[in-house]
Amino acid sequence: MPHVSERPKPFLFPAFCKGCGRCITACQKHLISFGHEINQQTGLVPVDIDLDTCNACGLCIDACPEPYGLMPQPADATDFELEDPHRLFGPRVTDAPVPVDIPDEHVPVPACGPLVIKGNYAAALGALLAGCRHFFGYPITPSTEGAELMASLLPKLQGVFLQAVSEVATVSHMYGTGSAGLRSMTFTSSPGFSLMLEGLSYMIGAELPGVFINIMRGGPGLGNIAPEQADIKLACRGLGHGNTHAIVFAPSTPQEMLDMTMRAFELSFKYRNPVVILGDGYLGQMTGRVVLPRDLVKPGIPAWAVWGDRMHRRNLICSLFLNETDLEAHNRHLIDKYAHMQSEAMADLFQCDDADVVIVACNTPARMVKGAVQTLRSEGVRAGLFRPQTLWPFPIDALLPLLPRARHLVVVEASPGQLEDEVRLALSRADVHRPPAITSIQRYGGVLPQQDEIVGHVRAIAEVNA
Ligand code: SF4
Ligand code: SF4
Repeated sequence: MPHVSERPKPFLFPAFCKGCGRCITACQKHLISFGHEINQQTGLVPVDIDLDTCNACGLCIDACPEPYGLMPQPADATDFELEDPHRLFGPRVTDAPVPVDIPDEHVPVPACGPLVIKGNYAAALGALLAGCRHFFGYPITPSTEGAELMASLLPKLQGVFLQAVSEVATVSHMYGTGSAGLRSMTFTSSPGFSLMLEGLSYMIGAELPGVFINIMRGGPGLGNIAPEQADIKLACRGLGHGNTHAIVFAPSTPQEMLDMTMRAFELSFKYRNPVVILGDGYLGQMTGRVVLPRDLVKPGIPAWAVWGDRMHRRNLICSLFLNETDLEAHNRHLIDKYAHMQSEAMADLFQCDDADVVIVACNTPARMVKGAVQTLRSEGVRAGLFRPQTLWPFPIDALLPLLPRARHLVVVEASPGQLEDEVRLALSRADVHRPPAITSIQRYGGVLPQQDEIVGHVRAIAEVNA
């Protein structure tokens, strides 16, 4: 043990001092006082220290809760402006084990016949089978059945159902739960989803998983509770501030509501990124046949989780990068991750092989298009349905092979052109400069495109070209 006079005096690293004042109380010689200058890096006010009469007792160092707030001054420290404490003090000494992934387990689901359930219930069931035991939400029509089923089942499964005080609180709870490496989700509808976007940006920035099911309704504003698809722009191009993207699924049946929800949790953890499922109001309320999967998931713990034990103590989850070059590097990393997500694009093609008219539609309108294609085929019109199952990334690789034959693309949607914008952007980015003629059927306000309307539109095109 060195003599008191041999001990190093304290060294204050202003960028790591939060100005809590514990060191002020600890110093019996009253050499430390509250500061008056805001640190430009942190926005906090570090303390002032007068070391002239300091006896190096070290009480202030012991009192400081910050890992690099007050440290013993290194003998060879010459540059107090260093920004990285590792350079000055080296890595923090620890004998805690390095965290490793504890992988998921797959457990067989007891055999049972198909269920006949609403789309919202199917998605909730998919979440439970994917190992989700944390639900946060705020009831909002037409998504409420999802929250309702989770509220009734989660307590029986030792899970957590929390009716959050707001959508902002919902997404913040999901941020915290995702940080712990746990599966969490919410059901919401258009105005609620809008309110969650800031938090979604934080989750993407901090690379946190979580599944958002948005059962879209009529807008803008409060709009109504009838089905619409007018959040495509929001989900594909507007997930809060900054450089953000998330995989966006577009189910068309209750079965897909279950399957895509399970897949959403898988991808959310694979990429450490939120995943969005866009359904529409009809799909949430629609009853259909749903076959359960063979396996359910018993989640493990990812190595990066802030789990709270000794092994995970050093993990840090944050979306703050004060240094410009650090934030640029983080954005490059996110852009690389988005590029890898392109491989998750999915599409379902119906009667497209020889189609002169390729009709693009998703969610419930795709069901109307399927009926229209059957009617048109019976009349000898070669029409087909191209149904993007992911809207971001858009499955352009599945559409491109249809273009040499197709003379028309018809985009059918319950929005004023948001799906068409995605189609046009995907074509442009694929360097398709002379696409087939693009026309559209757009309804909104809760009115869906009808089968007769689609048949009439395509029939008129076919007659012009006959
Ligand atoms: S080392 Fe002791 S005397 Fe010096 S500032 Fe800290 S508490 Fe005060
Ligand atoms: S105890 Fe540490 S963090 Fe708190 S004011 Fe003192 S130096 Fe700053």
